[in-house]
Amino acid sequence: MSSKDPANFAELDLPSALAPEGVSRGILFVVSSPSGGGKGTLIHRVLKGVSGVGYSVSYTTRAPRDGEVDGLDYFFVSPEKFEELVAADEFLEWARVHGNLYGTSRAQVVREISERRDIILEVDVQGAASVRKLLGDSVSIFIVPPSFEVLRQRLVARGTDSPVELELRLRTAPLELRQYVKFDYVIVNDEVEGAAAQLAAIISAERARRRRQEQEVRRIAETFPTG
Ligand code: 5GP
Repeated sequence: MSSKDPANFAELDLPSALAPEGVSRGILFVVSSPSGGGKGTLIHRVLKGVSGVGYSVSYTTRAPRDGEVDGLDYFFVSPEKFEELVAADEFLEWARVHGNLYGTSRAQVVREISERRDIILEVDVQGAASVRKLLGDSVSIFIVPPSFEVLRQRLVARGTDSPVELELRLRTAPLELRQYVKFDYVIVNDEVEGAAAQLAAIISAERARRRRQEQEVRRIAETFPTG
């Protein structure tokens, strides 16, 4: 499921958001849902509406859908190229999902969070478990559709999957749903505005956690008179 535990990532596997020298770094938000849960739409809205959040562009062996742009939605690669990237340890995590391979670029994630930018990873439940293990300080959010029927309708309406793929995604959905217990937050995506507002609120609340504000408060404290 995941690539081997990367030794050079150990320094980022910190219990708090503080790097050793006391410099805060960006927050890693892991967003998962059963296929058709609508997480793509929510994430898109949040990226437009909330500043200081980046998006991790994954690698995949899946064929591009109509309208998907290489380098923006995914880096679309051949299975051979993907294997090369696995061998070169380029992935923070990778997994086979619905018959295709998907992987998160380690370099991109490390760059963003070490430059103090928050980043959203849109990964399946296996990817979420791998990231949770690597980075105890990440924040995981599970998006659920209001019902199985709505999920089915969304997938059918999207019209991008062959009948075989559609069947596979629907068959996997109940197993994926059960994984919700592993996540920090759950958002029911019954209405897109409300669900996107909830996702934005989670990002704001996590940014305001005391341990992530230590450095800022110390800076402010220096402006206060002593005694
Ligand atoms: P889709 O083919 O619908 O774009 O994505 C299928 C599933 O793969 C979704 O659950 C999506 O979140 C997941 N996925 C996308 N990128 C990655 C990745 O880099 N790693 C993992 N583990 N899953 C991913």
